[in-house]
Amino acid sequence: MIWKRGYALTILFVFVAPLWPQTTVKLCFQRTIPFSPPGRKGATVSPELPQVKRPEFVVSPERIAVLTTKYWSPSIHLGVSFTDSTSSLQQRVMKIAVELESAGAIRFTSPDAAKAQIKVTFQSNQPAWSYVGTDAMKVKPGDPTLNLAWLSESTPDAEFRSVVLHEFGHVLGFVDMAPAGVLWNEPAVHALLAVSPYGMSSDEANAKLRELNSSSAPCGNEDKASIMQIPIAKSLTADSREWPWQSTLSEKDRQCISHLYPKVLKK
Ligand SMILES: [Zn+2]
Repeated sequence: MIWKRGYALTILFVFVAPLWPQTTVKLCFQRTIPFSPPGRKGATVSPELPQVKRPEFVVSPERIAVLTTKYWSPSIHLGVSFTDSTSSLQQRVMKIAVELESAGAIRFTSPDAAKAQIKVTFQSNQPAWSYVGTDAMKVKPGDPTLNLAWLSESTPDAEFRSVVLHEFGHVLGFVDMAPAGVLWNEPAVHALLAVSPYGMSSDEANAKLRELNSSSAPCGNEDKASIMQIPIAKSLTADSREWPWQSTLSEKDRQCISHLYPKVLKK
């Protein structure tokens, strides 16, 4: 399967929405390419992109690897193209994605498809997913870098916003964040991941749970309202607790974008 190509993937659980009864459990996979220190073969920093020193955060070693290697240069213009879908659906996506621009200097543009760093597709037979930050530059030319999966013209606005903002958060280099203190209903999680389109073994599911449990918010700050916090259905927790979708950028999300992609660079 496409997510078993050797990439280190982390699962983002679980888009369930009591408010959207037509919605069943849906997953997002963030895609990261294994860390290699800059200067070595496989480095995740695109060579043509000037890199700047980033703010320091108190985070886990795994998170440091992501934070220090997946961000774009602060004022980059990222070309976004679409491999399929109607122009009205594309416009609906970009109208939401540009909200991420308002907090920082990063900009989304619409170049020719061949020049776009971000290539969006809608493959409904897969989960929503996106490569994290500059890992999009490692993708084979022509292949998508971000999948908005089931989103369509008829998707309710709050759900549409949640998925677009979350996946474009990955585009900026943010990783998934599991809520602190979640008590997983592990049999339910395993049952979900064992079937199509995930098809994970028990060991793989356990590994993903461990990854999620060690995750943290963008910029390392605790933030229950972050767009990068994964929604979790009550059916997947041992205490029937649930975490809802977020459909807006939190204040800390905006601060983090401003910090990483500042409009005025400090000398
Ligand atoms: Zn995600």
